[in-house]
Amino acid sequence: MIVGAGFGGLSATTALAHAACDVTVIDRHNYHLFQPLLYQVATAGLPPSDIAWPIRSILHRQRNAVVLLGEVVGVDVGAHRVRLRDREIAFDYLIVAAGATHAYFGHDDWRPHAPGLKSVDDATQIRRRILTAFEAAEMEQDPERRARLLRFAIVGAGPTGVELAGTIAELARFTLAADFRRIDPRSAKVMLVEAGPRVLATFAQRQSQYAQRALEKLGVEVRVNSAVTACDAEGITIGGERVSTATVLWAAGVAAAPVGAWLGAATDRAGRVKVGPDLAVSTDPAIFVIGDSALVETAAGRVPGVAPAAKQQGRYVAAVIARRLLAQPAPPPFEYRNAGNFATIGRARAVIEFPFLTLRGWLAWWFWGVAHIYFLLGVPSPLMVSLRWLWEYLTYGRGARLITGAEDAD
Ligand SMILES: Cc1cc2nc3c(=O)[nH]c(=O)nc-3n(C[C@H](O)[C@H](O)[C@H](O)COP(=O)(O)OP(=O)(O)OC[C@H]3O[C@@H](n4cnc5c(N)ncnc54)[C@H](O)[C@@H]3O)c2cc1C
Repeated sequence: MIVGAGFGGLSATTALAHAACDVTVIDRHNYHLFQPLLYQVATAGLPPSDIAWPIRSILHRQRNAVVLLGEVVGVDVGAHRVRLRDREIAFDYLIVAAGATHAYFGHDDWRPHAPGLKSVDDATQIRRRILTAFEAAEMEQDPERRARLLRFAIVGAGPTGVELAGTIAELARFTLAADFRRIDPRSAKVMLVEAGPRVLATFAQRQSQYAQRALEKLGVEVRVNSAVTACDAEGITIGGERVSTATVLWAAGVAAAPVGAWLGAATDRAGRVKVGPDLAVSTDPAIFVIGDSALVETAAGRVPGVAPAAKQQGRYVAAVIARRLLAQPAPPPFEYRNAGNFATIGRARAVIEFPFLTLRGWLAWWFWGVAHIYFLLGVPSPLMVSLRWLWEYLTYGRGARLITGAEDAD
């Protein structure tokens, strides 16, 4: 039984294709989501269908896999049963790969005012808010209210915050520049607010400095050492300063899915379940937690919450189970092969850190692009996505500039 068909769950499933077992994959969505390109949907660069594919179609050739659409709400660990909203399903082995969600650090009331970016719904909601702000500004006569509509605040300067800030700045400066008559979209202000001392804190200092300079060249105002202390429908407060803005986006915190509570397992402060060297929980060798839901410590240190780590863990746990089924000795403890640390800043710059190489600038951007196309190879129609992406890149197009859905539909 595999809970979650994200990067971890899907790689475990496909790695079990030839094992002597039946695999049941349960996800609350009917699609697998390529989260690294979510910001492209949020900023109208790609349609959702370019970065999410039905799980059923991805696995349709895998005869031993059954896909179920359902939300897991708990696990009866003793009886080896997973609880869905309306039923329970028994398992022999369980792999939980339920990912993570946003953390508002105890301020859950900020959530409606500052959506985060984790799902397709989040991305289309953010797209709607950004595009609606420009539309409302075009109608607005009052200069102050117009300025508020054309001010965008992104909270949190990790890779997602940096990507959002850079891309919104480019959207305003290039893509929308000629589309409006009463407003000049280039006058939009994009602010990136970070509580810590620098952007891209998980990268080396030089990459952070480069990223900040690149953002500032795009017109983004970068505020470091600036904790947001209040957030409401009118804007945000940074220390004693009030910033009036119609659009606040949250890229500041991550909390694991509530897997620790389901399993009664120990977690860290971000809710990640502590697992052993074979990625099983300490209380039951048949229950594994992987990906963003897991806290994995190896001899080389803590494994980061990135897609390659989840995929490697999925394949590793599949090998553990396949060997157990054949009564073969267990593989050696899990080790993470560092696949690099990436972040893009707009359409022409990126920073990349490998253990052996650091890249910055346009070369890094192209490297990042090619790496993502390579990642996409496991999903349906990667060529179409890559070509559409290249077209948007070359033309400064934002082909998916549709305002869809309603605020209260989310
Ligand atoms: C905006 C964004 C950008 C990112 N960019 C990058 C990047 O550039 N490079 C990189 O390496 N990583 C990136 N990441 C991180 C990367 O996407 C994650 O590390 C990776 O997705 C973790 O894989 P996972 O399998 O643990 O979880 P996920 O891929 O999140 O999958 C979890 C799955 O579990 C399902 N699920 C959750 N709860 C339940 C439930 N109760 N019942 C049933 N199903 C459930 C979800 O629907 C989902 O399909 C990014 C993440 C985000 C949000």
